[in-house]
Amino acid sequence: MAVIAFISPNFDLRPLAARLSASVPGSRIAVWPEDDIAQAEVAVCWMPPAGIYARMPALRLIHSVAAGADNLLSGHDTRGVPVCRIVDPGQARGMLEYVSWAVLHFHRRFDLAQRNQPDRRWLREPAGPASSWRVGVMGLGAIGAHTACGLAAQGYEVAGWARTKRELPGVRVYAGASSLPAFLGRTDTLVCLLPLTPETHGLLDRKLFEALPAQASLVHAGRGPQLVESDLLQAVRSGRLRGAVLDVFQQEPLPSTHPFWTEPGIWVTPHMATMADIEQVRAQIQENLRRLASGEALLNRVDAGRGY
Ligand code: NAP
Repeated sequence: MAVIAFISPNFDLRPLAARLSASVPGSRIAVWPEDDIAQAEVAVCWMPPAGIYARMPALRLIHSVAAGADNLLSGHDTRGVPVCRIVDPGQARGMLEYVSWAVLHFHRRFDLAQRNQPDRRWLREPAGPASSWRVGVMGLGAIGAHTACGLAAQGYEVAGWARTKRELPGVRVYAGASSLPAFLGRTDTLVCLLPLTPETHGLLDRKLFEALPAQASLVHAGRGPQLVESDLLQAVRSGRLRGAVLDVFQQEPLPSTHPFWTEPGIWVTPHMATMADIEQVRAQIQENLRRLASGEALLNRVDAGRGY
């Protein structure tokens, strides 16, 4: 009987465990820390504590419950055990909705209307058509590519940045670190949808902000540690950047004393840009359990060396 461990210190995985146990007969569910996980062959995780994989010597698969797998890799020795993540088209659609709202916020100048409201200032700020607004999407994966193409379909002038070149309808693609300055230099609203890796850690810093046109804006829904928060505060306070919509943070929940909560020009959302549907998560883990048992290639495998 295969033992499937569910491991998260801060997210209740029991509803998912219940669904999976009902649909995978013959499996035994072990929810950490209450249950014994020593016999686990599969670990379904969100933010697993350091050293926990070593307590499961029979481990054959580590599965994320989300699109990102950074918290399953960083600071962990996976011992070559395959790591898989979730790819959910509904999650990509949710991200497009979130980013569309945030891009409109700056393009249609809702940010300025909101900032004028406390002073009862009636200022009609003209906005050009979407075709005059240059959006730059960092990360063109399952979520980023859908978002970039969706924005292009709305009429925006869209470019995307990834490690490797590809064709995307309506999107001008820049590839590799050497193309970053050119990509940034043509961007009015920068959207970060990158995975967290050693290369993207701290990427959104003062140097990067200075490569954007003056008064550019930021939408960050990748991962918190990609942003140097003090550099963003400085860039917004100095007027170098017009503002930022932020969904992810160095520390989550964002501490109540954090300056982002009250900074004019910064809009905070509580890591709610999009979420994988629990039924999709169950189905994808179940399919990978079947593949593991039959020796077929696993779906949505993460390249542990690359970090995503
Ligand atoms: P993905 O399919 O793994 O795609 C990652 C993209 O980033 C790829 O296009 C990759 O380039 C690019 N990339 C990675 N490292 C790079 C680097 N050093 N330089 C340039 N480009 C780089 O990931 P996804 O499914 O689209 O998800 C992206 C991220 O969104 C997740 O990792 C997570 O952090 C975030 N997310 C946030 C929320 C939220 O609610 N805020 C929800 C879901 C996901 P190549 O294509 O060339 O390899």
